[in-house]
Amino acid sequence: MIVIGGGLAGLSSGVALAEAGFRVRLLEQRPHLGGRAASYVLPGGEHVDNCQHVTLGCCTNLADFYARAGAADKIRFFDRLYFAAPDGRRGSMEAAALPAPLHMAPSFALFPLLDWADKRAIAAALLAIARSGGRPGDASAAGTGITMLAWLQKHRQTERAIRRFWEVILVSALDEELDKIDAQYGIDVFWKAFLSTRGGYRIGIPRVPLGNLYDGCKEAITGRGGEVILRAGVRGFLVADGAVEGVEREDGSVETADYYLAAVPQDVLPELLPPEVAEREPAFSNLKNLRASPITGVHLWFDRHVMREPFLTLVDLTTQWVFNKTQLYGEGGDNSGQYLQLVISASYSLTQRSRQEIIALCLEELHGVLPATREATLVKGTVVKEMSATFSPAPGSDQWRPAQKSPLAKLFLAGDWTATGWPSTMEGAVRSGYLAAEAILADAGTPRKFLQPDLKPEWLARLWARES
Ligand SMILES: Cc1cc2nc3c(=O)[nH]c(=O)nc-3n(C[C@H](O)[C@H](O)[C@H](O)COP(=O)(O)OP(=O)(O)OC[C@H]3O[C@@H](n4cnc5c(N)ncnc54)[C@H](O)[C@@H]3O)c2cc1C
Repeated sequence: MIVIGGGLAGLSSGVALAEAGFRVRLLEQRPHLGGRAASYVLPGGEHVDNCQHVTLGCCTNLADFYARAGAADKIRFFDRLYFAAPDGRRGSMEAAALPAPLHMAPSFALFPLLDWADKRAIAAALLAIARSGGRPGDASAAGTGITMLAWLQKHRQTERAIRRFWEVILVSALDEELDKIDAQYGIDVFWKAFLSTRGGYRIGIPRVPLGNLYDGCKEAITGRGGEVILRAGVRGFLVADGAVEGVEREDGSVETADYYLAAVPQDVLPELLPPEVAEREPAFSNLKNLRASPITGVHLWFDRHVMREPFLTLVDLTTQWVFNKTQLYGEGGDNSGQYLQLVISASYSLTQRSRQEIIALCLEELHGVLPATREATLVKGTVVKEMSATFSPAPGSDQWRPAQKSPLAKLFLAGDWTATGWPSTMEGAVRSGYLAAEAILADAGTPRKFLQPDLKPEWLARLWARES
């Protein structure tokens, strides 16, 4: 069994298939595992994530994968979400001792960054989602879906409610602007994370650099007779009579196996196939319809402590999240300095701007939110622009996402872009890996389940949804 790609899709399927008795040979072109959710070492010796990655309580398959990889205790979950306005005013949200979907209501009622008109509008829209069990009939039009912005306008949201609530949560969850998001994707976020269960919204942040989460994957594969080979790029598939017969590596060598699993990004897969196959088969040719959206990560090292919270979500600013990496890594007791990581999703406005301009913009915003940064010295700063961070969850984009069983015999597909029903996330990638492993095992005549169920909606959420 050959797996091509050592991101979360390739790793999760590789681990699952190794557990099922396959001898997995995983080929990854880079010198490290993790794909887009990876970390590396800067010339100065600092371990930096490609970009901060967070998970949520509702990401059941990612949690299962971390457990299989022995990394579950490297994720710290937070019950309280921290928000800040440009002038430094703070707000927070956390669950009270009430059943879902009412558990967030008390902290929402007291949330200081929205007024009553905003809150009334938001509550009515959330009620519409809860009443429909996450499937409001007006979220789709002729099977293609309306945009999230259109849905919010239809539900009479105030301008500030859109800007300070819906946009803040959805742009970072889905890496896209509200007028380009399929409403059903946006509604799913609120149903799964905030309305159906009490724990779905809990935010999980690694205590270690991302690369440290995957040590157990390598052991799980090699311990069962498999191999994980880095710097092993694949140049293409050898295809004959509608079946994959081998892979050609970048060093010119050819490898063969009983099954092949392509766990590479959606824009790479067609390049690995003979052009006539990539054009003929809709599963491959449709991939060009999936557009990419960017994320910008900004890493700042200060000479002193400038932030108390573990993380902050910012409203009304270009910078959307600030993560206190020093605190999250359990370091910095000596007040020697602080490392912050800032995240800007759907960062279209920054793609043409220089790294210096982006750092200057972020610093200016931090001066309002974290006043201690005004006196502090910025020791070092770096910017990572990921132009193709995720695929854009545009209305109708699900129709272009192929199943994990490809039209070519012996070739299976995994990746956050395959048909999982989830947006482009680590959870989506792991779901695709588990689904691909299940499809291979079914093809081999030894079916087995790996996919974990969603968190079950709690009793009141189920009752409300039934009554509608
Ligand atoms: C900046 C940024 C921030 C993000 N933040 C979050 C977040 O907070 N939470 C979240 O859930 N998700 C987040 N995501 C999305 C998440 O990272 C992805 O959805 C997920 O990691 C995709 O995994 P994958 O395995 O499908 O693809 P990838 O991670 O892209 O893995 C594909 C792998 O294939 C390898 N490969 C490519 N071509 C070849 C070849 N020819 N031969 C061999 N190997 C090859 C690549 O090197 C790579 O390792 C973020 C993404 C980015 C970019």
